[in-house]
Amino acid sequence: MYDFIIIGGGILGMSTAMQLIQAYPGRRMLLLEKENGPAQHQTGHNSGVIHAGVYYTPGSLKARFCFEGNRATKAFCEAQGIAYEECGKLLVATNDIEMQRMQALWERTEANGLERYWLGGDELREREPNISGVGGIFFPSSGIVSYAEVAAAMGREFEAAGGEIRYATVVTGLEERAREVVVSTNQGEFTTRHLVSCSGLMADRVVRMLGRDPGFTICPFRGEYYRLPPEHNRIVNHLIYPIPDPAMPFLGVHLTRMIDGSVTVGPNAVLAFKREGYRKRDISLADSAAMLTDPGILRVLKANLRPGLIEMKNSLYKKGYLREVQKYCPSLTEDDLQPYPAGVRAQAVSRDGKLIDDFLFVNTQRTVNVCNAPSPAATSAIPIGAHIVDKVRAQVGE
Ligand SMILES: Cc1cc2nc3c(=O)[nH]c(=O)nc-3n(C[C@H](O)[C@H](O)[C@H](O)COP(=O)(O)OP(=O)(O)OC[C@H]3O[C@@H](n4cnc5c(N)ncnc54)[C@H](O)[C@@H]3O)c2cc1C
Repeated sequence: MYDFIIIGGGILGMSTAMQLIQAYPGRRMLLLEKENGPAQHQTGHNSGVIHAGVYYTPGSLKARFCFEGNRATKAFCEAQGIAYEECGKLLVATNDIEMQRMQALWERTEANGLERYWLGGDELREREPNISGVGGIFFPSSGIVSYAEVAAAMGREFEAAGGEIRYATVVTGLEERAREVVVSTNQGEFTTRHLVSCSGLMADRVVRMLGRDPGFTICPFRGEYYRLPPEHNRIVNHLIYPIPDPAMPFLGVHLTRMIDGSVTVGPNAVLAFKREGYRKRDISLADSAAMLTDPGILRVLKANLRPGLIEMKNSLYKKGYLREVQKYCPSLTEDDLQPYPAGVRAQAVSRDGKLIDDFLFVNTQRTVNVCNAPSPAATSAIPIGAHIVDKVRAQVGE
């Protein structure tokens, strides 16, 4: 019998495991991951940005955890010798409407306590000669890192403290009883006093295994990237983001300096027809059928039909994608957009057709389930792990 089992070897599972064993040294703990190593899904397929916390509703978990996580991630990297860079982020407005939206973001970031600087067009050009815009906001605390490396280091900390990790172990069933939870896997059955699920793109299915109606469905959105050729590695000095359209849940195609020195363009946001489908041609009939009969997802698709179709068109036609980034980086050409692997976001959608905005947890008597943890959850992984430990502590009653 284990004291705690954690499902998921992404950054949230690893962060939770590391902090649980620090909170309960000497207890038996097991982390189960279906892949052959850590960070094979969202954690290993993202932009690698240590977000500052620009966009999030003041008072939300996202705003709080991102702010704390920005500092905590950098401190963890320092302690572990993991490379990161505090390169700062520039939000760039290219027209009057975006200037108005930028003003609203300026006020929101005041409420979220962020250090930031308003830049006029000349100051923008001085900082970023290859970027054109009428104004911008500079956030010095944004940074870059490899979250796969961070997650792997958290896993090593967990194991060094006596935790056990089993890869290639797929959780296939759960039964919550009065005093224990029975976890069925392809490698046999395990029992545990308490269970934490950090299963990303499978979050709703894991809640369902517990016999609960989760009340939401995970909608997978593929984020497709390009990479610029090496001669453009110094094309920007900071992370360059467009002003997001408040009607859209994602941040818009951005220019991201990566920790390996390259620069990526993206990601866009297109509906994925397979939960862990990274290529355009990856289609799961079962996933698609489940998605296209889900009332919440159908409502989201209907409400976002036009922007959704534009994203799809730009996904298929490189020229459309290029136009998005040329708005603020006009010198880029179609040949500059070179292939780069996509990621798939796990976005929870409520029955009434809302893209759930904040981080969401569903608890039962002996389980804590992370149900919505899209960006900036990698940045926020350490405070999210601490939050989960608090919830587990309340269940343990010690
Ligand atoms: C394109 C893209 C760009 C992003 N950019 C950023 C960014 O710049 N900054 C930022 O902070 N965040 C970013 N994010 C968000 C961030 O990557 C995620 O929020 C974060 O990685 C979520 O971590 P996780 O551990 O919940 O999920 P995951 O990393 O997906 O891990 C879940 C794990 O659970 C395992 N699992 C699932 N079901 C089972 C089962 N039945 N049995 C065993 N194991 C199971 C999976 O195999 C997987 O390894 C981005 C995400 C995407 C997709």
